[in-house]
Amino acid sequence: MYPVSLDVRNRRVLVVGGGGVALRKVQGLIEEGARVTVVAPEVVAPLTEMAERGEIVIEERPYSGEADHRWTLVFAATDDRETNVRIFHDAEEAGVWCNVADDPELCSFHLPARVRRGPLQIAIGSAGEAPFVVRRMRQLLERRLGPEWGEWLSSAARYRDAVRRLKVPRDREEALFDRFFNETVDAEGLTARVPTAAEERLWLESPVEHRTPRRGPDRRAEKEDRAGVVSLVGAGPGCPGLLTIRGRQRLLEADAVVFDRLAAPALPPELAPDVELHPVGKIAGNHPVPQEEINDLLVRLARAGKRVVRLKGGDPYVFGRGGEEAEVLASEGVPFEVVPGVTSGVAAMAWAGVPVTHRREAVRLTLLTAHEAIKSDGPQVRWDLLAQDPHATLVGYMGVSALPQVVARLLEHGMDPATPAAMVEQGTTSAQRRVLSTLSDLPSAIEAAGLEPPALFAIGPTVRHAETLDWVSKLPLVGHRLLIPASRSDLGIRLEAAGAEVVVLAMPVTPAARIVMGALPLTGCVVGTAAEVDWLDAERGGPGWSDEVDAWCLGSEAADRARERGWLNVRELAGDSDEETLVASIAR
Ligand code: SAH
Repeated sequence: MYPVSLDVRNRRVLVVGGGGVALRKVQGLIEEGARVTVVAPEVVAPLTEMAERGEIVIEERPYSGEADHRWTLVFAATDDRETNVRIFHDAEEAGVWCNVADDPELCSFHLPARVRRGPLQIAIGSAGEAPFVVRRMRQLLERRLGPEWGEWLSSAARYRDAVRRLKVPRDREEALFDRFFNETVDAEGLTARVPTAAEERLWLESPVEHRTPRRGPDRRAEKEDRAGVVSLVGAGPGCPGLLTIRGRQRLLEADAVVFDRLAAPALPPELAPDVELHPVGKIAGNHPVPQEEINDLLVRLARAGKRVVRLKGGDPYVFGRGGEEAEVLASEGVPFEVVPGVTSGVAAMAWAGVPVTHRREAVRLTLLTAHEAIKSDGPQVRWDLLAQDPHATLVGYMGVSALPQVVARLLEHGMDPATPAAMVEQGTTSAQRRVLSTLSDLPSAIEAAGLEPPALFAIGPTVRHAETLDWVSKLPLVGHRLLIPASRSDLGIRLEAAGAEVVVLAMPVTPAARIVMGALPLTGCVVGTAAEVDWLDAERGGPGWSDEVDAWCLGSEAADRARERGWLNVRELAGDSDEETLVASIAR
């Protein structure tokens, strides 16, 4: 078998058959610009619709020998073997390539299975030797290759153009391409990242040496002569799924990660053990690492040639002092970039059922840092303006202790005491709590409920939707934080869809994984084998774990081992339990 990629744009292609198989072939062909004619006595509705839109031509009649030289390719997908045989022979006679669905004997060409990430295509075939592996290989690659590869290929295309414009000799061009590839692809982890504009400039401008792949044994040595770069990355509000794709890429390629406490749940647990982790967490009222030291650390790491991620909760430029860090980097001449994040003020409110703007109700959104806002020095807040704008939402960060004063000022300036108001603690995480009230009653309601930082308040007319738009507390697994072994990561999607926060743990357990486990209390873990129990047993007792953690054991082997090891709360399920059963059992 000889693989080729055919440019089928404007080529005439015949598809015989009008069912689902034919439909998929037709879709693939017109996506690539082929001119398709379908011959079949009857066709499924989507094909008729395509014909109505002028995308294909349909001849509604049985096949009658038209697989001839007019076509570039012929596809047969009828359910009649005799017709398929005839089509194949007609095509052979006319010297036209022909593919009969699900009948390798009647094919002069085969279609590979494909994995696509944007313009990147990987084709998989088995030369007909073992077709059953093809689908499985495709699934494997689908799982292993993240969505970032599409963006990466597009960035490679742009880089190629930039290199071409340099009009340098061929060997130098190749060296520049090597550099791009080696610096952006992690060959072991099979991840790729889009380089920053600053990095690209550096590669294009600097004299080129040939480089070894960076995850290789020389990785440390290589750092010395590389210019470092700092990515100020927003970790999102706490739910790990709300980290951006680019943020994740930067983390997976980082040499050092400097992170805040609020950002910890978003660390990818699979971060390699040799990535330096610098917790510089600020806990309300207590600043373990002063800002100047964080700034110095960033500069020092970058100067040592490291790729540094400064991971901050939410968005780095929303009350995170990200602006100050960027200023220092700029003045020190350290290349940096910003990867924005989902800010908690918007996301936690969405989780709480509050749309921060709403047509005809709130046409302005104010983000306020409450504890700064009540200080008598520094910039002053125009409470009068905020209090007298009924069509606005006011979202307050760092507002638990300052709330009574904020409310007092708004009331003093004439805001309606009945204005709907809410506070959300640990929004978007498994520990989320929310309190709904009115402006005047919010402080006492918060005190009664005992809400603590990190929490946000929202004041404004749209808060009244919080009951009807509450989608989170309806999820069966809301409040659960479940640990699953990487071998069962397919379960994760289902558990997350059911509202759980999922931590996927791979062997060997990395320092990053331990930080993630400890970021919030775990409520359960899912295990399927005695070996999985054994290695989780080594983690039990670490941060995040408690005796309250339920061990959901799929099958008696795991359950017996868990009991043997003295685990409490062993919940045994049938070994072949499907995802629905698991969700229903955990939800109970
Ligand atoms: N840069 C961050 C905000 C940093 S200030 C962002 O864009 O979200 C820290 C404050 O953010 C906390 O005191 C709290 O008010 C708020 N906060 C951050 N994450 C939160 C969460 N998950 N739930 C509620 N409030 C949160």
